[in-house]
Amino acid sequence: MEKISVGVRFRPSTSSPHSDSSRQWQISDNAISLCHLNTPISGYTFAFDHVFDESLGNAVVYRVLIKSIIDAAIDGFNGTAFAYGQTSSGKTYTMNGSEMDPGIIPLAIKDIFDTIHKTSEREFLIRVSYMEIYNEEINDLLVLESQKLPIHENLERGVYVAGIREEIVSNAEQVLQLLKLGEENRHFGETNMNARSSRSHTIFRMVIESRAKEEDSFKEDTITDAVRVSVLNLVDLAGSERIAKTGAEGVRLKEGKHINKSLMVLGNVINKLSEGGKQRGHIPYRDSKLTRILQPALGGNAKTSIICTVAPEDVHVEETRGTLQFASRAKRITNCVQVNEILTDAALLKRQKLEIEELRKRLTGSHSEVLEQVLLKQRNDMHKSELERDRLATELEEERKARYALEHRILEQEKKIENLMNLSVSAHFSSACSQKKVGERSATPDEAHFLAFDDLKTPNLKCPSIDFVVRRPSYKEIESSPIPDNFADVADEDLWTRLNKGRVTDLEAFQMTPPLPVQEFPSSETSLVVPSNEELQAKNYEILEEDLHDVRKQCEALKEQYSKLEEENNILKEEKIGLTDDVACLEKQIDQVKSEKQVVLKELEEEKRKLNDLREEVRRLITTFSQKEGMLTSLYSKSRAFVENTKTAPIAPHE
Ligand code: ADP
Ligand code: MG
Repeated sequence: MEKISVGVRFRPSTSSPHSDSSRQWQISDNAISLCHLNTPISGYTFAFDHVFDESLGNAVVYRVLIKSIIDAAIDGFNGTAFAYGQTSSGKTYTMNGSEMDPGIIPLAIKDIFDTIHKTSEREFLIRVSYMEIYNEEINDLLVLESQKLPIHENLERGVYVAGIREEIVSNAEQVLQLLKLGEENRHFGETNMNARSSRSHTIFRMVIESRAKEEDSFKEDTITDAVRVSVLNLVDLAGSERIAKTGAEGVRLKEGKHINKSLMVLGNVINKLSEGGKQRGHIPYRDSKLTRILQPALGGNAKTSIICTVAPEDVHVEETRGTLQFASRAKRITNCVQVNEILTDAALLKRQKLEIEELRKRLTGSHSEVLEQVLLKQRNDMHKSELERDRLATELEEERKARYALEHRILEQEKKIENLMNLSVSAHFSSACSQKKVGERSATPDEAHFLAFDDLKTPNLKCPSIDFVVRRPSYKEIESSPIPDNFADVADEDLWTRLNKGRVTDLEAFQMTPPLPVQEFPSSETSLVVPSNEELQAKNYEILEEDLHDVRKQCEALKEQYSKLEEENNILKEEKIGLTDDVACLEKQIDQVKSEKQVVLKELEEEKRKLNDLREEVRRLITTFSQKEGMLTSLYSKSRAFVENTKTAPIAPHE
């Protein structure tokens, strides 16, 4: 929010210094008082931010009140400067000035072009129009034919004067020429110039467009080619002599055609705006052409200055008071100013490009990165599960081998059991047979027993060997040689004879010899605890059974483990399939994003090219237009001169 800046300017007095007026306006600092014999009169004291006495020239007023508006206008802010005051108080002098003391308009024009030329990083397009509001009619001062122009309004342009001529200008001289042309046109159509000028408002308008130069505007990460458009109004108002009273007192004067509606409404608008926030109510901008056109400058989006010009003479005291009251109210108004930026197609494109870039970054930074991370993680998971699967497969193989080994062992054990069973049967059978033989040749059951054991050859059996010892038979009882055929290494009587070199042993003598205490061969029941065949078989069978049981148990456990592993393997296989699908899907998405990006980039390139073409076209058109314009202006001047000449030239008598 920004307050309207208001300054009061006194023009030099026209009354003679010897006039005997007892009342005088006195200025001390920024306070103005009407004094009677140096004593302030109550109700006639005012204070302002800026008061300019008659000694100060236009340059000071410009520097203090206007320069900031001009600078802001170049930067894209709307700006308006009004000159308000009664007729002959110095409004036109303040706005236009003289040759020696150029006014605000020429100073502003000079300043604008100076600044533009110094601003190398932006390019400017300046259009100028000059209009007059007289009797609530808008006339174009640059084109004589354009009278009574209508005001239009639309969303895009806001309020605008339809059909007004806008000159594109490139230097200060050109603008000053146009101003001159406007003044001439004003004079041209009016016989009583003074009466008209005191009742008309002139608005000199400059539209300043700018954007960053191309090399800057195409920087990747900025949107500098947004076009700034600002409107600068320099307004010389109609004389406020009657309106001041109207505005101050809110009285609606009915003066027929002399009522200046625009100025009256301006007073009302200022009154309303100065009331501030809540009491404000409806602001009657639409009630007059002037307030409608200048709406942004009044409580809207514009930096605004009002120069209230006053005449110091005693005769104008009341008018001056009215002007000061108006100024007091106006300084309470606040405007809300902001840069006017228009996004061109190129700027829009750039913004979109940046947005896409941003999205892409976000996609790379988040979504795509996340996707890639997910992809990576899933690949890792897949890899892990493959490793796990391999490990399980190896374990499975080992288990399988172990199982085969166990099964093999079981088979062996079963074979052995079978053998054992067979042996047991055959042992019974041979035992039965040998018992028959023993009956014939008195073979002891022990022999059969040992034979049986020899045949069995079970490593588990801790049995004495068959050739361990042979008990010498008692000769008394044995009629035939008791020595079995296979007892080859057992000494017999013949051997003894041969060993005794033919000496026949007196066996009787032997018998005479007191019998040696022969240690009796331990009987199977007493000294050598040899289990019986059945017992051994049973024991062996038992052990084998136990073994078999253990092996079966192990086998069961292995089977269980195997099925578990197989289950895990299946789950992993399923997971792998899922992960492969995910990876494919993600890869598809990435491809899609890539192709979209390609399309957008292509479109951008195309639009860029189109924009450059358009710019070129516009430049070409402007040049052609300026040339034609120059030609037309000179043609116009010539034709005018010709008309003047024709008018003044004496008409030759017709012969
Ligand atoms: P307005 O436009 O308000 O009717 P003008 O600007 O035409 O008044 O001023 C009336 C007369 O006063 C002009 O002759 C002008 O030259 C003169 N004048 C006004 N202000 C000043 C000033 N500050 N210094 C010198 N002369 C001035
Ligand atoms: Mg004037």
